[in-house]
Amino acid sequence: MAGREDVDVLVVGAGMAGVCAAIAAARGGAETVLTDRYTFLGGNATAGLLGNFLTFHNMKGEQICRGIPQEIVDELIAGGGAFPEGHLPNAYGNAYTVTPVDAETLKWVTQRLCLGAGVRLVLNTYTLGPLMHKDRVVGARIANKSGESEIRARVVIDASGDADIAVQAGAPFHHGDEQGKTMSISLFFRLAGVDLERHLRFIKANPDQFMLGEDPYIGKTRQEIAAGLRTHKDYPLVTGYYDAVKQAQARGEFHPNRQRVVFSITTIPGVVTVNSTSMLGLSGVNNDELTQAAIEGREQIFKVRDFFRKYAPGFEEAYVLDSATAMGVRETRRIAGEETLATEDCVEGRKGSRDIGRGAYCLDVHQPSGVIEHKHIKGGESYGIPYGVMLPKNVEGCLVAGRCVSSDRFANGSVRNQAHIMAIGQAAGTAAAMCVEGGACPRELPVDRLRERLWRDGAVV
Ligand SMILES: Cc1cc2nc3c(=O)[nH]c(=O)nc-3n(C[C@H](O)[C@H](O)[C@H](O)COP(=O)(O)OP(=O)(O)OC[C@H]3O[C@@H](n4cnc5c(N)ncnc54)[C@H](O)[C@@H]3O)c2cc1C
Repeated sequence: MAGREDVDVLVVGAGMAGVCAAIAAARGGAETVLTDRYTFLGGNATAGLLGNFLTFHNMKGEQICRGIPQEIVDELIAGGGAFPEGHLPNAYGNAYTVTPVDAETLKWVTQRLCLGAGVRLVLNTYTLGPLMHKDRVVGARIANKSGESEIRARVVIDASGDADIAVQAGAPFHHGDEQGKTMSISLFFRLAGVDLERHLRFIKANPDQFMLGEDPYIGKTRQEIAAGLRTHKDYPLVTGYYDAVKQAQARGEFHPNRQRVVFSITTIPGVVTVNSTSMLGLSGVNNDELTQAAIEGREQIFKVRDFFRKYAPGFEEAYVLDSATAMGVRETRRIAGEETLATEDCVEGRKGSRDIGRGAYCLDVHQPSGVIEHKHIKGGESYGIPYGVMLPKNVEGCLVAGRCVSSDRFANGSVRNQAHIMAIGQAAGTAAAMCVEGGACPRELPVDRLRERLWRDGAVV
């Protein structure tokens, strides 16, 4: 064992949930360490080449996510890693806005914000598991180039995306659907050399081939929406090519695991981020299966490139610029927490006195069969995310932030998205700092005081 370090708050996993948690904890006065296996921050938003944040608004256009997540967007705009408007209207209609983000600028912005808040970064480091005292998590075992060591902490925030710490500590959890099968895994890549204005003309002439205005709350036809598109920025998250995908599949030119392609525009002219590979029946917490997904994903990338070149006007000269470092794992474990966000809570837009954030993205599940199912929130509303979704049952000293919070499958299909997990992260970090300050454990923290603090710090609660 190379050594031991004692801190107030340890955040495991530097995806956007972990980043927001670490910034909030450090600003709250806690000595905070943020650790990740990669050499940079951002998780799926950077390593996964995701390319956007969904979503800061409900379908009525009200902003439901502010605080640290909005500060990150403001910094991205200032650094040239987001469009000047930040949030763009989303003609797709699965959310009111989408916020395209440049992965390289996001790595830089998140690092600066963390260091500015006083967070100590421990990168290139794998977290092996929790350190326990009875049923309490008191730190974690880590391994890196210096060897193995321990970081002891008064509160541990598990932002690993997979609940690695909470589950090894004994928290009950669900993995995927009733049969344990999870959503498809994707490998993102970017195509360069794309003529997006030519492509937009094709969309306007063929609106029935694209998803436009999906949420019934919008109340407009595809044709009406297509007629209003002026530049490619009016349709930042493109999805469709239904007939072309069918045709290509019949000819063996496209994998059989999706019925449509998806890509988002980027701040770099002629470059798009493609979300169209799909690997089914593989778990993101089984290394053999994850390896298989990586191998299949790389094969699919070049077939998908050829599909775009052949079927998508404006993509004839497109080439693969790069592919993601991390596999795009949509779903693995969801902890069973003291409170659980349910499908009905989201669909009905329920809010409560224990909410620490809001969600508004549609309930988006990529079924193990390959079929993508969406449910929508009634009346263009948002729903509340209660504090207890971060509190794993049977385990003390640990908060879980990010996509693995306690939620049923469809609720998770919404709350896993970036704006929502960033809001959860800010709440987890703030709660952890308050626990350190007051000598409390997360379960004992008065939620009304946490909500006051979050509200003071600009969050929507
Ligand atoms: C294919 C795909 C498409 C998506 N599309 C969108 C979209 O268009 N818009 C949107 O807003 N959201 C989208 N999402 C959802 C969103 O990207 C994720 O739900 C979100 O990234 C979850 O954030 P997180 O911080 O919980 O986890 P992650 O982003 O996964 O971050 C977890 C971090 O923990 C680290 N880590 C994990 N385990 C360990 C360990 N043992 N030791 C050290 N480090 C560890 C990882 O390296 C990573 O950096 C998509 C997700 C996928 C997979």
